[in-house]
Amino acid sequence: MPPFQGPTDQELLSVVDVSVHYGHIRALEPLSFSLRQGGLVLVLGPNGAGKTSLVKALAGAVPAHSGSVRLGGKDVTWLPAHSRVKQGICLIPEGRGTLPGLTVRDNLDLGRHAAGRARQSDSQSDLEMVLELFPPLASRLEQDCSTLSGGEMQMLAVARGLLSKPRVLLLDEPSLGLAPIPTARVYDVLDQLNSNGLAMILVEQKAVPLDRIPDTTLVLQSGRVVYRALGQRPTEAQLAELYLGGVGAAQ
Ligand code: ATP
Repeated sequence: MPPFQGPTDQELLSVVDVSVHYGHIRALEPLSFSLRQGGLVLVLGPNGAGKTSLVKALAGAVPAHSGSVRLGGKDVTWLPAHSRVKQGICLIPEGRGTLPGLTVRDNLDLGRHAAGRARQSDSQSDLEMVLELFPPLASRLEQDCSTLSGGEMQMLAVARGLLSKPRVLLLDEPSLGLAPIPTARVYDVLDQLNSNGLAMILVEQKAVPLDRIPDTTLVLQSGRVVYRALGQRPTEAQLAELYLGGVGAAQ
């Protein structure tokens, strides 16, 4: 298991009034929350709710229209994406972001380089660590990553993210397109990593097979928070109702 700091009550990421616009489209209305060291924020919502826009704004992949993002007390709102990775904000995008034509090993190397020299450590032991977490990747290191199954591809995306030495992992729909068994395998590792102190913001469309109860759960609908809960998550029935717009159950 990687040497994370371990969960504490100390605030790691602070998101204040962050909104995202694409021209005249208001994809995300101002949204605030915070994430503690080793904490978990779950963001749920149907298609087009603004979930991807949120994590992209945190990672610097799209500019925030308003608000601020602080990591460990440092204002990173205007840092470009590659600098935020070096600070420890790692986005594992929807669709994984792995590069076909490159081997599994090359994809993993990209993660290690993304960390920047200052944060790189022993590459061999880091590689061993991620291969221990995701054993199916070990026998496929020299294989073109496009030959991997969907579940293995998601493992590769998470493994590559881990090699960038994240302080916070942003996961955009890691279960997308996966059958229940590969989803459970990926989630098993995410659970372990989170329990060991790696802070996460997890985006999904519906309920997730995660043992831990998130510190904060947000449900977005058309760019707005329609449900916010601390230390609990919505039931499937509540979600269905929220997605149908039946209740404005923001708590
Ligand atoms: P999904 O689950 O389908 O990925 P989402 O909750 O992640 O949806 P976003 O991708 O953040 O939602 O999209 C929110 C809104 O912003 C949608 O109306 C979408 O069409 C719009 N949008 C997203 N990206 C762009 C873009 N680059 N240019 C214009 N509009 C965009």
